[in-house]
Amino acid sequence: MEQSYNELKRHLSEIHDLEAVTGLLFWDQQTMMPPRGADVRADQIATLTRLSHELFVADEIGRLIEHASAHTATLPADSDEASLVRVARRDWEKARRVPAALSADLARASALGYPAWVEARARSDFAAFQPYLEQTLDLKRRYIACFDGGKPYDVLLDDYEPGLTAADVQTVFDRLKRGLLPIVARVAANADAVDDSCLFGTIPVEQQRAFCLAVVERFGYDPEGWRLDPTAHPFANAVATTDVRLTTRYDETSLATALFGTIHECGHGLYENGISPALERTPLARGASMALHESQSRLWENLVGRGRPFWRFGYPLLRECFPGRFDGVEEAAVYRAVNKMQPSLIRVEADEATYPLHIILRFELEQALIDGTLPPRELPDAWNAKMREYLGIDVPDDARGVLQDVHWSEGLIGYFPTYALGTVIAVQIWEHARAALPDMDAQFARGEFLGLCDWLREHLYRDGRKFTPPETLDRVVGGPIDPEPFLRYLSRKVDALHGTADAEH
Ligand code: ZN
Repeated sequence: MEQSYNELKRHLSEIHDLEAVTGLLFWDQQTMMPPRGADVRADQIATLTRLSHELFVADEIGRLIEHASAHTATLPADSDEASLVRVARRDWEKARRVPAALSADLARASALGYPAWVEARARSDFAAFQPYLEQTLDLKRRYIACFDGGKPYDVLLDDYEPGLTAADVQTVFDRLKRGLLPIVARVAANADAVDDSCLFGTIPVEQQRAFCLAVVERFGYDPEGWRLDPTAHPFANAVATTDVRLTTRYDETSLATALFGTIHECGHGLYENGISPALERTPLARGASMALHESQSRLWENLVGRGRPFWRFGYPLLRECFPGRFDGVEEAAVYRAVNKMQPSLIRVEADEATYPLHIILRFELEQALIDGTLPPRELPDAWNAKMREYLGIDVPDDARGVLQDVHWSEGLIGYFPTYALGTVIAVQIWEHARAALPDMDAQFARGEFLGLCDWLREHLYRDGRKFTPPETLDRVVGGPIDPEPFLRYLSRKVDALHGTADAEH
């Protein structure tokens, strides 16, 4: 029986290798590949996806899972072995429902949709992208049909946040909306009082890159095991826990885009890098879910990178990396600038208060697209109407509206909610880390972040995907997803920024 376990693990490692290589092809497509490579690359990705799918859904894997579970039944449920068999069984039963041809079609559509989106966005031309979206929706409906029961959207959501339903998300989002709308109204009224002009101008990309690297190297980025490359839509991809690829987007007129984008992706990278080496080359060598993953990118981006203690360290570094640019700008002014809150068009550049409303808008539109109540051709108008309703702003063109995000081009439907859930979970985890590390603010001020990183590794990262998302969260914070800590944190921060000056120090 132990032999079956070893045999199962060997098969799963080979399948994991294929998936990691597929991820590497995606990384290459979005960072290095010349544009003419797109068509053949789509076929290459489809081939690898079909092969790994076929290998995984084989009867032999099911037989090995049965035999191996007899072996792991004698081991503790939280052992690596028992967890591997449990997760493999869940994945296998799910994957068996999807024909290999459909999974290859989905992968091909995703690889072709991406360059079509890049071009459509560059020309702000939704009509050029619409056929790709229609095809994706069509494939997604075929995918949903492979599963019985539940709402169609729940099937898609389960791929990113296993076990969570649209109704669960709705409960959290209703509370967020109620709590956020008054906060957003308050920050919108005060936005003019914050001067963030120090973050704009002509800022050479090389200087930005040097600053971003100097920051993330303090967080745990290791030049021997990580890379940072430019791309159109930033993401992080771990080829292995020892090979982490971060990407970022540089804007020569704005510092915040690359800085917070890089810190965000570094948070994702730290999670993957912190997974126990014992789980390497297995299906457990990933984050527990997309919301938990996003909790880490948001924690490092907002709770660390937009926090007051970080800028005690960050301010002198800023002056060193951008000689002359910050002369006459005080540390407190930089802190206020990076925390300027104001309703805006672009989700990835949105402040902490308005961000979840960008997600709620996408969650509502995705459900309408999937259940067919919103025809794709009406999507831009529906988008623009919700932007006006939730954020009070007019969308000037599709590039800064419905075409701004890469997700739908790659078939990632049901993914967006995990961003807001991660934002909420980040604060839950943060409160526990702070309680455990009373010296944290002083450490940050000295540019020391490894204490926090080690705590997160110990309590979250090392377990990878061993436990379900609710189990994983419960092990860190002792409870389920709860929006209250986030709402409390945010209103305190808004008070500090727009209330008495005392609160800033
Ligand atoms: Zn992210």
